Amino acid sequence: MTKISFEGKKVIIFDLDGTIVNLTADWMTLRDVLVEKYREIYEEQCDFERISKCLDNIVEKKDEEVLVNFFDIIRHYELENIKDTQLIEETIFFINHKKSFGIKNEIKFAVLSLNTRNSIIQSLEIANIHNKIDLIIGREDVRRWKPAPDGLLKIQKHYKVSKKEMIFFGDLENDLLTGKNAGIEAYFIDDLIKLVNKLKKGHY
Ligand SMILES: [Mg+2]
Repeated sequence: MTKISFEGKKVIIFDLDGTIVNLTADWMTLRDVLVEKYREIYEEQCDFERISKCLDNIVEKKDEEVLVNFFDIIRHYELENIKDTQLIEETIFFINHKKSFGIKNEIKFAVLSLNTRNSIIQSLEIANIHNKIDLIIGREDVRRWKPAPDGLLKIQKHYKVSKKEMIFFGDLENDLLTGKNAGIEAYFIDDLIKLVNKLKKGHY
């Protein structure tokens, strides 16, 4: 099992979807809508294998207005089913009981997510941990998305900490790659979930 250590860490960062909660947005329809919109505007096809890839094209075109419009559409679809958001109990337990894991009070929690800020904030409210998350970096806050290191580096800059003082948890290979690209330690949330379950059973 992967050995996670919080020793010397000052900022603990989480992805949102699949890590703290499971969103239930209609991603298929969202993708179709964005594909159509893109074709309408640029009269060309965009490869929507990943939404970020297509947004990359818009950034390249320096079309900030279109980009903001795309953010609005993404936000709309994310928020449509936000009330059906499911909680990942172990992660939320960890955030609520950090002292049990030897994490001091002054250690900050942050979220780095590809979801829009509103969706992140509302998800955290549903999970009732919005007061415990100190910083949110969402879709609108960077122009190069995971696995680019920009989000993590923005968090580093905000706290003026070293990379060694940060640790990132996510549910996808893309998250681990983000950590690697930033030079920041990253783990699958499953590893943290195992740790939480161990503690709950009294074996930590
Ligand atoms: Mg995720």
